[in-house]
Amino acid sequence: MTGNIIELDEQYYSKLSAIIKSEASIEKMFKDEDLEFLTRRGFIVKSEVNELDILKIWWKKGFSQNVLTLTLEPTLRCNFACTYCFEDTTNGTTMGDKEIQKLLRFIKKYMTE
Ligand code: SF4
Repeated sequence: MTGNIIELDEQYYSKLSAIIKSEASIEKMFKDEDLEFLTRRGFIVKSEVNELDILKIWWKKGFSQNVLTLTLEPTLRCNFACTYCFEDTTNGTTMGDKEIQKLLRFIKKYMTE
């Protein structure tokens, strides 16, 4: 839900895999400071938190008349080099000044309406 990404070493990966498969409890597998880190970053949520309710609120906010939600893709170029990628990521277009000005005009217009 947070969009956070974490790189795990082999040891962490094994621990998390065991927890996901319900082969071990999270409290036994991690030290308090690791649990605190994972919780603070949103990888672990407390059992009393209803993530589905939070997602419903976000979903409703996304369609609210008072909230402008934009997904900006300033370039189609990409240097992630995912092994499964079929896109031509080296020759993609990039937003220029003209597009940026147009976007700013759109946002300003939306904010004044
Ligand atoms: S799939 Fe392709 S375009 Fe998407 S992040 Fe990976 S390399 Fe970039």
